Amino acid sequence: MTLPAFPCTQCGLCCRNVHLAEQTQYLDRGDGACRHYSDADKHCLIYETRPDICRVDRQYQMHYAQRFSWEAFVEVNVEVCKLLQRQAPRMAPDTEQSVIPIGPAIAPINAPA
Ligand code: SF4
Ligand code: SF4
Repeated sequence: MTLPAFPCTQCGLCCRNVHLAEQTQYLDRGDGACRHYSDADKHCLIYETRPDICRVDRQYQMHYAQRFSWEAFVEVNVEVCKLLQRQAPRMAPDTEQSVIPIGPAIAPINAPA
């Protein structure tokens, strides 16, 4: 099933905060950002082969499609994107204090219960 694209603004905040989620902490290069994230180019260096946890559509189909519509799932995860974006000024590597549990495109586990 082909799903409509997730409305990502490509802010990169989920890739720059992999330390916030247990499922993505193994990608942390030491400053909270993913080891595969290019600061210079602001994109994923392994995009075509990125892990499943980074594929929002695959995560949806694997874990949430039985319980939620894609639209509902996107809506909840977009809220997490916005929360990350609101917190961005306070999320410098030396001020690790976010309350955001996860980046949506990385591991969309915040679908409604
Ligand atoms: S935080 Fe959301 S909008 Fe920003 S890059 Fe990740 S998925 Fe896209
Ligand atoms: S998409 Fe995944 S692998 Fe690529 S930079 Fe972001 S967190 Fe890292």
